Amino acid sequence: MSLELKQKQFNSAMELYESRKRYKLLGRFVSITNISLQIYTLSYALTLAIGFWWQIVSIIAAYLVTDFINGLVHLYMDDNENYDSLAGPFIANFHLHHRTPRYQDNNLLIMYFNETGSKIWLVFYLVGLAILFHLPNMNPFLLYTLTYVGILSSIAEISHYLCHNSNSAVVMFLIRIKLLLPKREHAIHHLKDNVSYTFLNGVTNPLVDFIAKMFFTGYKNKTDLHYAKYSGSNMPRH
Ligand SMILES: [Zn+2]
Ligand SMILES: [Zn+2]
Repeated sequence: MSLELKQKQFNSAMELYESRKRYKLLGRFVSITNISLQIYTLSYALTLAIGFWWQIVSIIAAYLVTDFINGLVHLYMDDNENYDSLAGPFIANFHLHHRTPRYQDNNLLIMYFNETGSKIWLVFYLVGLAILFHLPNMNPFLLYTLTYVGILSSIAEISHYLCHNSNSAVVMFLIRIKLLLPKREHAIHHLKDNVSYTFLNGVTNPLVDFIAKMFFTGYKNKTDLHYAKYSGSNMPRH
């Protein structure tokens, strides 16, 4: 398909995104659903006892899984060019993160709410997890870990935001102890092609990089070209 056609499709998808209220309303609905399910699953998890050390192991495992899964979703989305599909306006808007050096400053709780609204896949994940809590003989360690993955997936968006917007001492400390995304490692995603997709703390980048190299061609010569003729100033929801 010609580049010109893709650029046209991109612009009409963005036009839809900006002019129709339904996309913003869907974002709000996704945020509220995800956050309600995060609270629901966490409140069920907290009734289970796995002991202090298993809690630590569970959080570490959840960090690795979250970093990896969200990196994979990012990889899939960066490659996606179905602008004329039902999800097209969201896909087009997502691609704009590649040209955003800094996001609008905002309260972290508002950021948590807004960014959670872009995670449609998380709704399906959290509904599945909520069902698991009602099945017999489920392993409590597994339930805790999956619950943490559900919450850390939203925190990953905050980590990406802070990586772009903050130089505070607390953030720098959290980066140093590997709880947030290192700036230099993430900058590579914006500068180079088809690398450094993860955005919770970046530890699973080598694995996602390998998958990207094997199965994907990158964004610089593909989806990044599609917004070349887009002149809007819409802030990406990623
Ligand atoms: Zn990207
Ligand atoms: Zn970024």
